[in-house]
Amino acid sequence: MAQRDRLLDQRLERTDLLAWLREDDPARLAELWAAADETRRRNVGDEVHLRGLIEISNFCVRACGYCGLRAGNREVERYRMSADEIFACAHEAEAYGWGTVVMQSGEDYGLKTEWIAGIVRRIKAETGLAVTLSLGERPDEDLAVWREAGADRYLLRFETSDEELYRLIHPDLPGRVSDRFRILAKLRDLGYEPGSGVMIGIPGQTYESVAADIDTFRGLDLDMIGIGPYIAHPVTPLGDHTWSRPVAEGEQIPSDELTVYKAVALTRLACPESNIPSTTALATINKVDGRELGLQRGANIVMPNLTPPEYREKYEIYPDKACVNETAEMCRGCLSGRIETIGRTVGTGPGGRRRSGQA
Ligand code: SAH
Repeated sequence: MAQRDRLLDQRLERTDLLAWLREDDPARLAELWAAADETRRRNVGDEVHLRGLIEISNFCVRACGYCGLRAGNREVERYRMSADEIFACAHEAEAYGWGTVVMQSGEDYGLKTEWIAGIVRRIKAETGLAVTLSLGERPDEDLAVWREAGADRYLLRFETSDEELYRLIHPDLPGRVSDRFRILAKLRDLGYEPGSGVMIGIPGQTYESVAADIDTFRGLDLDMIGIGPYIAHPVTPLGDHTWSRPVAEGEQIPSDELTVYKAVALTRLACPESNIPSTTALATINKVDGRELGLQRGANIVMPNLTPPEYREKYEIYPDKACVNETAEMCRGCLSGRIETIGRTVGTGPGGRRRSGQA
């Protein structure tokens, strides 16, 4: 266990992160999993917090090269949930004892600022839930109004810290340069708990850039850090192979589950107190036990889907999403079972950001 103990004490520098991402010796990786699991246990405990996801709209103005909701995709039928449908989901989350709802969508300006504010206010007034928003790169004024209405957290993944790659896969809107790091700082100023994250294995993404991603998380003091595999969607430029960014031989980081576990475990070691979900994308590429393995290699959060079944399959950011045909009720039973089987407990309460010295 000497290696594990060293991992628990040591600050992982960029070069260490890089070496671990390239590690393929099972015995050494077992030490990495053990160190990540121990760090998770010491810092955020055995409770797995459930954050109910409501996918409120799949309209999007963006043309992201990776995402199936991109504006140019005519093959997806667009929807927006009604306010009553959203409240019904929130009440369901509360009835299940989940502490948080996450309202996510494409970047949809049909979701009017005041309309969202009204929904946030009503959920905060009628339930004890924490409210997380994940509605894309909305203007600062919108973010301020929603915070004022009571929203607690905001999720915006920076997707990759490789600026050149980011520009290629995430085109700007006319006249507006996309700077997700600026928005994350703004969210913090407004009093949100910001969450972020990345995809692993984007075509053209190197090992080195993922090591930089993990190093970057450290400086951002994030409530939540979501890490999932990139999954090719055939209707997108990245997924249909019309697009590529050449990288040197051996430099492309894979999008497989093992690489995602390494990134999750290293992120836990780098950011011991953050909330790290075992993502749906990970559960999609290993439907048997991806969820559990993520939780055993650093993660402490799961985001069960509360979206009504008729909309779920239309929120197709990538194909063949895990649990797409399950109702929230089914997810609830299945997830509690999975969590208990690995000796963990389902958390209660909002499960917000934990900081040193705080109970
Ligand atoms: N419009 C919001 C929410 C996007 S969906 C936003 O842009 O922030 C949430 C996350 O799904 C994205 O941030 C991205 O990291 C992930 N995602 C999108 N397409 C994906 C794909 N093809 N494979 C894996 N993850 C993907």
